[in-house]
Amino acid sequence: MPELPEVETVLRGLKSRALGRRISSVEVRHPGAIAGSPEDFVQNIEGRKIAAFARKGKAIGVELRSTDGAPPSFLLIRLGMTGRFTVNPCDAPLEAHTHARLMLDDGREEIRFQDARRFGRLRCCTRDELDAIFARLGPDAQQITEDTFLRSMRGRKGAIKSWLMNQQMLAGLGNIYADEALFVARIHPLAQPGRVSIAKARRLYRAIQTVLARAVSLQGTTFRDYIDIEGRPGNYAPRLRVYQRTGEPCRRCKTKICRLVIAGRSSHFCPRCQPRPRYVAAMRGPKKSRPRVKN
Ligand SMILES: [Zn+2]
Repeated sequence: MPELPEVETVLRGLKSRALGRRISSVEVRHPGAIAGSPEDFVQNIEGRKIAAFARKGKAIGVELRSTDGAPPSFLLIRLGMTGRFTVNPCDAPLEAHTHARLMLDDGREEIRFQDARRFGRLRCCTRDELDAIFARLGPDAQQITEDTFLRSMRGRKGAIKSWLMNQQMLAGLGNIYADEALFVARIHPLAQPGRVSIAKARRLYRAIQTVLARAVSLQGTTFRDYIDIEGRPGNYAPRLRVYQRTGEPCRRCKTKICRLVIAGRSSHFCPRCQPRPRYVAAMRGPKKSRPRVKN
């Protein structure tokens, strides 16, 4: 699933290929990919110029300026699990799961939205609606200050892994980069945010910044589906230290990487570099609800 680095890569690709261009016509091929009425969607987008891009966490906002003085409209993009954008010549064969086509300028090129799993959404909205949607998200993981980050951890119970992935707390991290940042910071995924020492919390903040910056510079991680706007996969996968490396040796200490299911999601960690805090075992309740540990 695309996380902040993949979404940022898509945003940069769209910006380089489509900024300043006019959306001359729109074809919705699968109405389920559009939030709200597809007719309104088409009406509010057609004829407008792509004027600016913004991102918060995994959400992209595109400002569409009208040429007749009407207020701008905004396109909210959520890639979901498998959403992808490409810029193609209009006469290029359509790939499967192409749900929307935005023809550009004179109609020689178009932006295509494909989404095999159909969790992604395109939505047309006003500035106020976009602001409200962005406001419901926590601070962006790359924009948040260290102070705010440390303050928001205070008093929080539950697994730090789930906390990092909660988009209302911190927007942008998913399973991959939460696992990677926790490894770099040497924090067990079941540690409680409120019980992590200040020194470790600072280390986690820095780890998140380093991991995200590196992943953005390598155009994100591709496992199965993710590609950038030119159809290229991301280059971060060979750099992964724990994610999907169950049973492989830790790059730091050679201990086998373990997998643990937390709130239905896999967590990958090194049991030696990221020791389980003593309070975690004591607070896990009946055995059957304990997370399963697999190596
Ligand atoms: Zn290790």
